Amino acid sequence: MNVVIFGPPGAGKGTQAQNIVKKFNLHQVSTGDLLRTEIKNKSEIGKEIEEIISKGDFATDDVVNKLIKNIIFDPKKKDKLIFDGYPRSLNQAKNLDLLLDSSNQKIDFIFFLNVNKETIIKRIERRKILEKRSDDDLNTILKRYDTYMDTTRPVLDFYCKNRNFYEIDGGEEIEVISSKIEQIIRV
Ligand code: AMP
Repeated sequence: MNVVIFGPPGAGKGTQAQNIVKKFNLHQVSTGDLLRTEIKNKSEIGKEIEEIISKGDFATDDVVNKLIKNIIFDPKKKDKLIFDGYPRSLNQAKNLDLLLDSSNQKIDFIFFLNVNKETIIKRIERRKILEKRSDDDLNTILKRYDTYMDTTRPVLDFYCKNRNFYEIDGGEEIEVISSKIEQIIRV
């Protein structure tokens, strides 16, 4: 089973992905975490993207597509992937389909966590205190939201006609959302 968790920044994708990983024994693929690791390790990619990410812009599709390719083709992770924060553009969504197709895999569930802008701002401001992420200040949050609306939201039109697309109210309590997702997966 492969799962995509989709939604704006602050929708709770990471939290829900971690829960599904535990319950269904999957591997979380968070491109945000992969990129932050590159920055921490001061790799070539890390140096290239550090400033871009702290400003709330996206890493290029090329960089991100490269990072996920190895994971998709890793036989130990095959059909056990949960994508969190990927795809974030139409190009990435098409690339994901191609990579999965060429490794004989598919997406089994797409969950869209729908959250309004006010809730996002409140949540990210809380997260800034807890996690001290450099891209969690108010201006950057607003920038990330705009980038989401411009670049990521079109991916919804690409996915929403699929039979395995589920929209979930991401403004609800974490546990409520988790149990909704679990129920859908278990049916
Ligand atoms: P996240 O941890 O998913 O909120 O991602 C943090 C930041 O990493 C984003 O605001 C982007 O700058 C960058 N990022 C994460 N995933 C992607 C992606 N799939 N494509 C481009 N940039 C990404």
